[in-house]
Amino acid sequence: MKDTMKSLDTKWRTLVSNQSSRAVAKLGTFKSRSVQKSVYNIRLTILCGLITILVLRGTIGTGFFTFGSGGTEPETKHDDGLERRALTNPVEDIVKEPETTEKEPSFDKDVPFALGPRISNWDQQRAEWLSTHQNVTKNKFGRERVILISGSASKPCRNSVGDHLLVKSLKNKVDYTRLHDIELFYSMAVVDSQMSSFWVKHPMIRKMMLTHPEAEWIWWMDSDAMFTDMTFEIPFHKYEDHNMIIHGFEDLLFEKNSWVGINAGSFLMRNCQWSLDMLDAWTSMGHPRVAVEYGKKLSEVLLDRPIFDSDDQSVLAYLLVTQTQKWAPKVYLENSYYLHGYWVIIADRYEDIMANNKPGTGDEKWPFVTHFVGCKPCGKEASYGIKRCVLQMERAFNFGDNQILQRYGYQHRTLNSSKEIGRVRVDSADPLGLGLPTVSVP
Ligand code: UDP
Ligand code: MN
Repeated sequence: MKDTMKSLDTKWRTLVSNQSSRAVAKLGTFKSRSVQKSVYNIRLTILCGLITILVLRGTIGTGFFTFGSGGTEPETKHDDGLERRALTNPVEDIVKEPETTEKEPSFDKDVPFALGPRISNWDQQRAEWLSTHQNVTKNKFGRERVILISGSASKPCRNSVGDHLLVKSLKNKVDYTRLHDIELFYSMAVVDSQMSSFWVKHPMIRKMMLTHPEAEWIWWMDSDAMFTDMTFEIPFHKYEDHNMIIHGFEDLLFEKNSWVGINAGSFLMRNCQWSLDMLDAWTSMGHPRVAVEYGKKLSEVLLDRPIFDSDDQSVLAYLLVTQTQKWAPKVYLENSYYLHGYWVIIADRYEDIMANNKPGTGDEKWPFVTHFVGCKPCGKEASYGIKRCVLQMERAFNFGDNQILQRYGYQHRTLNSSKEIGRVRVDSADPLGLGLPTVSVP
């Protein structure tokens, strides 16, 4: 009963959160225009105020405007780090994007969009290649090879906290993949100029499949998702009859036609012809020349989806509910562990989880992945406050990182800050546990 309640809770919250996340990102553009005028007026007032203060400061001296400390304390004492950096925007002032001289490619309406040259015999090609490269098909643990892809835009975030969190999220993935001998590829390129934003992953996945025939699975994970169970492994034996693994709920997707019945922040595709076909079908609805038209269609079919350009998660849900026989049999909707876990129902519980459970389960007892849906610390138009998002992302990182540090005898003193770590184990003179006789030092 408790588990059923939890799962219902998860579904409901995921529903609410996801809806706001992507829709806000798109709808925000319209909203912003209407408030632009008043923002301009406010800016003008603030600017006048600032000039007045600067003039007075020059005349009267600095102490007058320093509150509380009489101007003697160092500035850093008042700097809570997050808020100041999150609210200022120094990077954009320093790194100016050069004006692009390249023209947008024009569309030929009669030529259907394709991710690349049509391949129809990939299974045959790959099998042929594998027959002469059998020694490279397994990783050092004797398991099928997996490539994890993640990525972010090539330009700096709007604030330095966003960049800082991207580094942490990348380190988190470096640690997980190192432990499990999974190859990690981090992309900062838009390999197909027509496929940007949440569509950048698709051309990249295809490229990885075709250039890494030794890899059985290609796994995409968003930059706003972090591993929080470092020991959990994907149970690949479950998916022998499937070509795609994605977090989702059958009833939400197939009974309610909900666009949040699945989550496209973390999913795996088998390196095979089916996946190439799926990627073609999937991206054919994401190309900019059809994105508006399909956006409307998706909102007609999918429950509670606001009208905005087609996004990858909705298109996948649409394909699964409208062409069920064609695609669904090979797609495994996983919810027995958190291949994607909604941060709002996870991140407050980390201390509780550490006190009562052990890593390795990947489910609500110790979530495998925590995904910060609706937080956009690198960009704008987030659905949640930046302070809350940044704190919880920091906590998720430290929670995962503890499982790494503990191997070396350390642990973060608190999940709320990465600053300090503490020793949890006394170093041994016999670190390998071999019990060799001690050599006396003269
Ligand atoms: N992404 C990328 N390059 C970009 C924009 C996005 O690699 O220029 C990746 C990034 O990993 C991000 C993911 O695509 O987490 C999903 O995009 P987005 O953040 O816009 O969607 P959300 O996760 O908020 O639904
Ligand atoms: Mn995401």
